[in-house]
Amino acid sequence: METRRLTELTIGELRDGLRSRRVRAADLLEAALRAIADSQAEGPALNAFISLAGDELAEQVEALDRALDGGEELGSLAGIPVAIKDNICTRGLPTTCGSKILEGYVSPYEATVVRKLRAAGALILGKTNLDEFSMGSSTENSGFGPTRNPWDRERVPGGSSGGSAAAVAAGLAPIALGSDTGGSIRQPASFCGVVGLKPTYGRVSRYGLVAFASSLDQIGPLTRTVEDAALLLSVIGGVDRFDSTSADVPVPDFSGQLDVGIEGVVVGVPREYFPDDLDHGIAGLCRAAVERLAGLGAELRQISLPHTDYAIPAYYLVANAEASSNLARYDGVRYGLRVPSAASTAAVYRESRGAGFGAEVKRRIMLGTYGLSAGYYDEYYGRAQRVRRLIAQDFEQAFAQGVDVVFTPTSPTVAFRLGERVDDPLQMYLSDVFTVTVNLARLPAISIPIGWIEGLPVGGQLLARRFDELTLLRVASALERSIAASRPDLGA
Ligand code: GLN
Repeated sequence: METRRLTELTIGELRDGLRSRRVRAADLLEAALRAIADSQAEGPALNAFISLAGDELAEQVEALDRALDGGEELGSLAGIPVAIKDNICTRGLPTTCGSKILEGYVSPYEATVVRKLRAAGALILGKTNLDEFSMGSSTENSGFGPTRNPWDRERVPGGSSGGSAAAVAAGLAPIALGSDTGGSIRQPASFCGVVGLKPTYGRVSRYGLVAFASSLDQIGPLTRTVEDAALLLSVIGGVDRFDSTSADVPVPDFSGQLDVGIEGVVVGVPREYFPDDLDHGIAGLCRAAVERLAGLGAELRQISLPHTDYAIPAYYLVANAEASSNLARYDGVRYGLRVPSAASTAAVYRESRGAGFGAEVKRRIMLGTYGLSAGYYDEYYGRAQRVRRLIAQDFEQAFAQGVDVVFTPTSPTVAFRLGERVDDPLQMYLSDVFTVTVNLARLPAISIPIGWIEGLPVGGQLLARRFDELTLLRVASALERSIAASRPDLGA
C-alpha cells in the first residue's frame, strides 16, 4: 500500500483514510492534479483529459476537510475525485463530445449521473477524451488529439472511453465514468487493465448523456476493482423521471453483497466467441479464467449463440441509423460551431457540419442516412432490427436453460498501435466483435483484467440476465480475487 499513490487506492481504502483523517481531501485532490500534470509532461502526453476543473475544487475540498475534521458523516463518495467522459453534461465544465463542433460548449444543465455523484460528495475532476461522439474503438477519432495507452504510449487505450480508462489505469483518478454503445467501456477497460461495467439498458439514466445511438447507449463505471464498480453503480443507478427509458427496478447495495461465493453458478462458454483463429494468448488466458471459475465451484457449460456472426453488420446499421438522426441537431444554429455564411440557411448548415464534424462522424451519418432512406429502409434498418431480435433470443434461450452468466474474451486483440487501424474503418469495426451483442440484447456486462501478453493487459468479459448485475458482479469479484491471490503482481 505504501508504494501506491493516493489516486491508486480503492474507494473503500480512501473512505477509511479520509474518515480516520490519515488522508486529507486536499492531499488526494493534489495527488490527482499532480499525476495529471506528470502524465502530460513525461514522454508523449497521455492526453486523458480534455478539460480540468479549476479553483472551485479547492474550495470544495477545504469545506470537506473541515466537515471531516468535525467528524461529520458524509456521502459514500465524499472527497473522491471522479473523471467524467466528455459526452456527459456537466455544469461549469465544457462538454465537447471530442468534437470540434462542440468546442467550448457548456451545457446549461447537468446529467443525472453527475448530479448523483455530487450528492454523494464526489469531486468532478475533469472531462476525459473520447472518440468524436463516441464513434470509434481507439480514441484516435477525437478532435482534440488521441489519448495514449499508459502501458505503452505508442499504443491506443481503446475507445471510445479511452480517456476515462487511461485516467484510471495511470492513477490520474481513482474512478471514472464512461459510456458504452457497442463496447466503449469494456474494450478500453480491457486495453488499459482496469474494470469496466456496462449496466443493463435502462439501469442508469441517460439524461444528460449526449446521444449517439439512443437504444444502445448506457453510462457505466471504469474502476480499479469490481467492488468499486459495484459501489459506483449503486450511486448512479435508478429510475429517473427525466429519462423515460430508465427502468423502475430497485438498485441494491451491490458492493455489500459480493462475498457470497459462486458455488453452483452456471457459466456458459459460447463456442462462437472462441473461433479457431482467436489469438492464442487471449484464448489461453480465457481458458485459464474459465478453469478458475470451475475451481471456485461454478458449473461450466458449452453453449451456442448462433446469430453472433451477424452482430457487427446489425450493430453498425442500427447505431449509425440512430446516430444520423441524433446528430441532425448540430446545425450551426442551436449549438456550438457556426460557420457564418451570407449565402443561405442551408449553407450555414452545410458549412458548419462540414467544418465541425470529423471524417468518421461524417461516414457514419452517411451510412446511417442511407440505411434509413426510402426504398432501402426495410432492406437495411428493418433487417438489422430483426437480426437484433434474434441475437437477443440467443441469449434468452441460454438463460432459460439455466445459464447464469456467460464468459467471453472482451476484445480479439491487445491494445494495437496508434495509426494501425485508423485508415481502415472495417478493421476498426471488427475489434467490436465480442462487445456489440450485449448492447443489441440490452444485457449487463463487465470486463475485468485476466492477465498479460508481453506487458499489455488482457480483459475477460462476463455478461448476465437483464438487471442481474448482482450475479454478474459476484462472479466477476470472485474471479478477480482468485486471480489476484495467485498473481499479486497483476494490479501492479
Ligand atoms: N466501437 C464502437 C463504435 O465505434 C462502439 C462505440 C461505443 O460503444 N460508443 O461504434
